[in-house]
Amino acid sequence: MQTSFPTTCWLVFQNDHLLFIKHKTHFTLPTTQNNMPTFLREIQLGMFNDQLCYCAEIASDASLPVQYELIPLRKSFELLEPIWYSLVVKAYSVINWDKNHQYCGRCGHITSHQSHIFERLCEHCGLAVYPRISPSVIVLIQKGDELLMARSPHFTKGVYGLIAGFVEAGESIEEAIHREVREEVNINIQNLHYFGSQPWPFPDSLMIGFTAEYASGELMIDNNEIEEAGWYRYDNLPGRPSSNISIAGKLINYFIEKKQQQYH
Ligand SMILES: [Zn+2]
Repeated sequence: MQTSFPTTCWLVFQNDHLLFIKHKTHFTLPTTQNNMPTFLREIQLGMFNDQLCYCAEIASDASLPVQYELIPLRKSFELLEPIWYSLVVKAYSVINWDKNHQYCGRCGHITSHQSHIFERLCEHCGLAVYPRISPSVIVLIQKGDELLMARSPHFTKGVYGLIAGFVEAGESIEEAIHREVREEVNINIQNLHYFGSQPWPFPDSLMIGFTAEYASGELMIDNNEIEEAGWYRYDNLPGRPSSNISIAGKLINYFIEKKQQQYH
C-alpha cells in the first residue's frame, strides 16, 4: 500500500507583505520552499485544506526569484479564496508574535518556542507569552430608516464606516460599546444585539460586531478620532467598506437588506 504524504503550503511574509507565485493570469500560494530566500523564522501551523501549512518570514532586504511576488496583506485577501482568510490572519499573527517576543518582557532573558503549541517560554523566570488577540467592538446604530456612519481621518477618501474601538482592560464588551459610542459621537444607545465576529490582523484585533438602536443625545464628534459622522438613509449611503472581508461591510449590508425587505 502506498502511503500518501500531505502536500505543504507556505505562508511567507516580508514585513506586511505575503509571498505569492505569479502565474500568467493569477497568483497562488507556494507549495514548496524550494528557491525561497533563507527564512528568519519558520513555524508549523498545522493541517488546513489537506495541506500541511507553515508560516515563515524572510528578511526585509531579501531578493526574490522572478516567479515570486510580494503582495500587501490587505490586498492579498482579494486574491485568495475566502476559506484562506483565517489561516492567513493566524500566520501573520504567529510570525509577529514570534518576532516580537524573542526576549522575556519581565527579566530580559531569551525565550524559546515550545514545540506543538504557540507559546514562547522564558525558562529563567517562567513567563509564557502567547500570540496577542485584542478584542475590539464595532456597532451599527440604527435610527428608524437611518444608520450612523462615521469617517476616521485614516480611512480611504470618501469611505465611511461604523463606530468601533478596542475593549479596555476591566471592561465588558457591552460596556466598551456604550463607552466608545459616547466618546466618539456623544449619544446613548439601546437594544444591543450580537451580530458576529471577525479576526482582523491590523494589528491583531478580534472585531466583535453588534447592532443597536439610538436612544438619546445629540450627535457631537470627538475630533481626535473622527472627522465626520452623520445619519444616512439606507437607500442613500455614502462610500462604505467592501463587504467580502470586513465585518463593517457585512453589518451595513445587513441593514440595507432588512430595510429593503421592510419596504418592498
Ligand atoms: Zn523571564
